[in-house]
Amino acid sequence: MSIAENISYIKEKIFNAAVRADRDPNSVRLIAVSKTKPIEAIIEARSAGMVDFGENRPRELAEKYENVKDVNWHLIGQLQRNKVKYIIDKVALIHSVDSIALAQEIEKRAKAVNKVQKILIQVNISGEQTKSGITPQETVDICREISRLEHVKICGLMTISAKGFDFEQNYTVFKNLRDLSDEIKRLEIENVDMKELSMGMSHDYEAAVAAGTTMVRIGSAVFGSRDYNIQGK
Ligand SMILES: *Cc1c(COP(=O)(O)O)cnc(C)c1O
Repeated sequence: MSIAENISYIKEKIFNAAVRADRDPNSVRLIAVSKTKPIEAIIEARSAGMVDFGENRPRELAEKYENVKDVNWHLIGQLQRNKVKYIIDKVALIHSVDSIALAQEIEKRAKAVNKVQKILIQVNISGEQTKSGITPQETVDICREISRLEHVKICGLMTISAKGFDFEQNYTVFKNLRDLSDEIKRLEIENVDMKELSMGMSHDYEAAVAAGTTMVRIGSAVFGSRDYNIQGK
């Protein structure tokens, strides 16, 4: 199948999952995760209507940005503090903020380019050791701390589910993130806007839509499997 066919297939799946969950299908944004994929693939996806693209490496994002500027770039992978400078003037949303120190670095760099950087806080809901993200217990305190930064705006939460989970297990992870987001919303912390939930990838996005996600990050189902990935994921 072509990239355009993959996109329309995924959009239909999202539409159906949203309708089943009694949600507005337009409330779910599809982010095409183009990591490791060439510019041609990105241009093909853009021609098929995609406007949001995700990358997990700062350098790769910065390079691709130079070639494709009229889309929204999302940094979705782990971000080291010393790499913030490569992307600060290029990225629409950073999904993977997992420490106060990282938020402070983003504050510094965003201020320098006269920008308020939108971010999400990455939470490790599944408890899987290999997953980055803060614990649910520390999320409120970290949100409060980061909310004081003037050039950083928290727009919601992000999570990655665990490998090998079935629909129900993924749904539980995603529902827990949604509950946490609702809890923070009720606190009405100034400068914190809990409107986005970034959850759901190629193998679990229907569970994420059912649980209330507003952004799904989909790579292999859009572009085909990546070279470094073995099991056709
Ligand atoms: C690679 C990646 C994705 C997309 O993964 P697929 O399984 O290919 O859809 C989503 N989120 C993050 C954080 C990623 O690194």
